[in-house]
Amino acid sequence: MLEGTIIKGIGGFYYVKVKDDLYECRARGVFRKEKTKPLVGDRVLIRANENDKTGYVEKIFERKTELIRPPVSNVNQAIIVFAVKNPDPNLWLLDRFLLLASYQGLDVVICFNKIDLVNEEVKHLIEDYTKAGYKVITTSCKENKGIDELRETLKDKISVFAGPSGVGKSTLLNNIQSNLQLKTGEISQKTSRGKHTTRHVELIELEMGGWVLDTPGFSSLDIDFLDEENLQIYFNDIYEKSHLCKFTGCKHDKEPQCAVKESVENGEISRSRYNNYLLFLKETMDNRRY
Ligand code: GDP
Ligand code: ZN
Repeated sequence: MLEGTIIKGIGGFYYVKVKDDLYECRARGVFRKEKTKPLVGDRVLIRANENDKTGYVEKIFERKTELIRPPVSNVNQAIIVFAVKNPDPNLWLLDRFLLLASYQGLDVVICFNKIDLVNEEVKHLIEDYTKAGYKVITTSCKENKGIDELRETLKDKISVFAGPSGVGKSTLLNNIQSNLQLKTGEISQKTSRGKHTTRHVELIELEMGGWVLDTPGFSSLDIDFLDEENLQIYFNDIYEKSHLCKFTGCKHDKEPQCAVKESVENGEISRSRYNNYLLFLKETMDNRRY
């Protein structure tokens, strides 16, 4: 048996990369009974036929993470890309992506792109998010800045890129490696029954080691699985302070003697992040009412 990674799945076939070889595999019937379908990203054992490079997926190793949209396992890092200008960064959206990444158990690197378009203005962004505990990279595709650092960050990891359109995700990937293309828009294909739509996602191998998903992450920004108590767990900077609040279960909103609000006052926590936390908090409370 050979150990490899599923890099693509189409119409019941799973394409398993084992070192330099690609095997076209079917899944064993046992997976149907267990109701676990193999996923792109899975580490698997296959029984291989060397003559025609086909095989059967016999075993799926335990998944470290599992994204729903796009459906892929074992992604360990999200590169969240925002432009510093053109389009102007929407920090509500950035905090939303950060929250979703944290909920899914992904490490995050924030990449502020197009730094050729501004200089001083970007400082407070870097400061705010570094303070919040994130690794921040600044890049310019135009001036070829920060690309090596981004490359270094991707090495040996399985990464998904996310961010609004127009921020330069495709251009960045293209700068990293020429065959790295991001699929844009909804890629769907009708199955033979014509009922379901499936999205094909694919892992692209990096020459220097590591993988990048060819589809941007977080196509849904829903947070209805969160409630007002657990929301803060996914705001590391806020959650870190919460044990110093006077009241257990403090939501850092109207409560007195709140360590989070004090940290906002003294600048330890960024005010815009805190304000976005409050907006999300209100949203989780509104969700509960229906
Ligand atoms: P995506 O939608 O996030 O994939 O964004 P694209 O890669 O399609 O880029 C959107 C636009 O921004 C294109 O016109 C790029 O040429 C431009 N762009 C990308 N990176 C940079 C950069 O670092 N600086 C500047 N000035 N423009 C950039
Ligand atoms: Zn509090």
